[in-house]
Amino acid sequence: MSEPRAESLPREELERQTLQGMRRTLGHALANPAWKRRLAGAEPGDIRSVADWLRLPFLTKDDLRDAYPFDLACVERERVLRIHMSSGTTGNPVVVPYTRADLDQWATVMARCYAAAGVGAGDIIQITASFGLFTGGFGFHYGAERIGAMVIPLGAGRTSLQLQIMRDLRATVLAGISTYPLRVLEVAREEQFDLASLSLRVAMLGAETWSDDLRQLIEDELHLTTFDIFGMTETGGPGLGIDCQAREGIHVWEDHYFCEVVDPLTGAPRPDGEEGELVVSTLSREGLPLIRYRTHDLTRVLSRRPCACGRTHLRLDRIRGRTDDMIIFRGVNFFPRQIESLVLKQPGAGPEYQIVLDRTPGGSDRLVLLIEARESFAESGLPRLRRDLKELLNLSPEITVLEEGKLPRAAGKSQRVVDRR
Ligand code: AMP
Ligand code: ZN
Repeated sequence: MSEPRAESLPREELERQTLQGMRRTLGHALANPAWKRRLAGAEPGDIRSVADWLRLPFLTKDDLRDAYPFDLACVERERVLRIHMSSGTTGNPVVVPYTRADLDQWATVMARCYAAAGVGAGDIIQITASFGLFTGGFGFHYGAERIGAMVIPLGAGRTSLQLQIMRDLRATVLAGISTYPLRVLEVAREEQFDLASLSLRVAMLGAETWSDDLRQLIEDELHLTTFDIFGMTETGGPGLGIDCQAREGIHVWEDHYFCEVVDPLTGAPRPDGEEGELVVSTLSREGLPLIRYRTHDLTRVLSRRPCACGRTHLRLDRIRGRTDDMIIFRGVNFFPRQIESLVLKQPGAGPEYQIVLDRTPGGSDRLVLLIEARESFAESGLPRLRRDLKELLNLSPEITVLEEGKLPRAAGKSQRVVDRR
């Protein structure tokens, strides 16, 4: 562990710290009149239990967008050392200001994440996430400096070069977004690059939902262990949590973040074990504290009991999708990740796919699944994929089988759904 005491605090102590963090965050936010108006008279002294916190209003992505650029920021401009921004495609971006303490907090939680993945001072970490407004690159960088590992800050893309450097500098850890290993595998195939010449043993991946099947494929083909790292621009980037060697959920650093799982429609709390929308409050961030932020991410609390790894911080399930990713097609609800699992189960197909939704000239909804597959797939695999989609998801999409390499490859997060309806 990076901070053994903090990471294995007894639950009562964690809960005490949570309440302290809530009061501190509320007091800090109230210094900004915009927050004071939002919070309608709430005072730190009112927060005597978690139930009191749950009476505060939710904060939404739209609230943050409308506050563009700094209306909800809680420190003077002079104390801001860094800006990151959300990658939203429409409307104002969400601007997150970081103070020195925020950068330090980020390094702290990222160092814990590295330790949970068994990564330490002797490791060589190749960062394949971009450095820029996106938080991925810098987050991995700060954590690596904190643990004293060697960093290769290659950033996104240039996969051929990535492979060469990875091999020649003997990188042991690949840090990046969940689908990036697919690019690595693809380019290695094209260039007949010998994957056995790599020294990778760990990949820390996140920023997109990725199915267990994709996870398995990456582990099998690259001969390493993956860790699922979670976070978002609004919470300060990656590092909110990660799964550990026990692989029984994502530990959320509870002394820095308070998580709730709520019904996405009504906002009512969901009991542990039941899926809902994750709501995050920050307990130690200064620049842009979050009070009950609706993340849109779907998960559930798996356990609040101590884990086999010795950590006591609560565990969330891996993210299943986002409320805004859920596709409703002729009354059937599904997530891209479910399609991904089925495609990956078919020998000769995948791992790339795209779901296209549009309307026929007659006005009815149409669902086309684009996949890549070997030639032989059409006879044997295709009927099986159709059957699985029908039986398991109750879907009968049109399926277009393309040659390998024909679907667009994204520079960052992959675009799995194109909705033209
Ligand atoms: P961004 O602000 O661009 O970093 O995007 C944050 C969003 O990426 C989150 O709200 C999630 O929807 C998604 N995300 C981040 N990490 C993961 C992960 N480990 N698994 C699934 N989705 C993730
Ligand atoms: Zn654990």
